[in-house]
Amino acid sequence: MVANKEHNYSIIVQKYGGTSVGDIERIRKVANRISHYVEKGHKVAVTVSAMGAMTDRLVALAKEISTRPSKRELDVLMATGEQQSIALVSMMLLHKGIKARSFTGQQAGFLTDSRSGAARIIEVNPKSVLEAFKEFDVVVVAGFQGVDEFGNITTLGRGGSDTTAVAIAAALGATECEIYTDTDGIYTTDPHKVQTATKIDNIDYDEMLELASLGAGVLHPRAVWYARRYGVVIHVRSSFSYAKGSLVSDIKENIVKTDKPVTGVALDLGIARVDLLEVPDKPGIAAEVFAALGEAGISADMIIQGVPGDEASRQQMAFTIDKDQAEYATEAISSVLDTIGGHFSIDKNIAKLSVVGIAVGSTPGVAARVFKAVSSAAANIQMITTSEVRVSVVIADDKAKAALKAVHSEFDLDSKS
Ligand code: ASP
Ligand code: MG
Repeated sequence: MVANKEHNYSIIVQKYGGTSVGDIERIRKVANRISHYVEKGHKVAVTVSAMGAMTDRLVALAKEISTRPSKRELDVLMATGEQQSIALVSMMLLHKGIKARSFTGQQAGFLTDSRSGAARIIEVNPKSVLEAFKEFDVVVVAGFQGVDEFGNITTLGRGGSDTTAVAIAAALGATECEIYTDTDGIYTTDPHKVQTATKIDNIDYDEMLELASLGAGVLHPRAVWYARRYGVVIHVRSSFSYAKGSLVSDIKENIVKTDKPVTGVALDLGIARVDLLEVPDKPGIAAEVFAALGEAGISADMIIQGVPGDEASRQQMAFTIDKDQAEYATEAISSVLDTIGGHFSIDKNIAKLSVVGIAVGSTPGVAARVFKAVSSAAANIQMITTSEVRVSVVIADDKAKAALKAVHSEFDLDSKS
């Protein structure tokens, strides 16, 4: 909330996700909740996602035209999802007699770079939103979208509405951003996948950033990054109740990790493994491959290279990318291998499972316990990476849920009830 001295009102920043605005009945409930705060005398800056699976549907339409649709036009298309929901939420509020106005990303002052589909926010100019608050009680901003310096519509990456909301909060000087979702907070793992997952009341920015980046899904990683950068507390809570949810803030100092080194387990089903085989084993090859991927706007993760052999003038490499980038990666890698030689394959049937906790690196045996639990689910480990705060493994996706459950119990994260 932010007290605006000039105008003598306070602004509450809220974001409603796709399920919360999934149909008109739910939009009515969202409008009721917003009016609850308006009646208490607050101004409300609302960010909304596209309705339900709308973004997926739009992407599927584009893919009927081409497996590699123009990224610029895909952004123009995807941005229409949020444009529908800002209009409908604003209409519902107006219908209830609340003074509300919708804003597209551009109208709300979101300037981004030009990376279509994964744009970064350069600046948020809240001038028009603040101007609107002179006349309106609620401003409804389209999540997930902005505009680049050339006037092209951009999107912030799937799940990016969270980032819009936190960026608005930062631009308005708010200290808290409420993220409304279909669960009542952040859990030790996705409660839709593991019913025994436990709710976390408070989590540190760094742990949450890791979990979000590793595919936990509950928050967009850039939103957590933004929140940490601008000191905005994120309050993840249920759109179906008024109960307190989970707070993401700076609590590292207070975390005492003795018996439980792991805070949460993330499962990412949205990745693919790329294997490069028999590529030349000489300087500059990795640079060339990854430069081509970079130019195509694809980032690679978990990069491993085979052991250098003596007979080998040929080398192998493997890495992971986002599954929805697979078609673009195929194009980029093919053109490099055409000149340097070698071949490649992409496996989309994989998952990345990660345990996260500030004390993971300093607690002996965490990796061994992960491997043991994963093997108890009969899942074979294809790739491994570790850092101070996490251990990640890549396994086949059909074993992923069983492995997730095993790892979750191994670290005593199951709820007691
Ligand atoms: N509608 C976008 C998506 O489905 C953005 C969001 O929901 O946060 O990815
Ligand atoms: Mg989301």
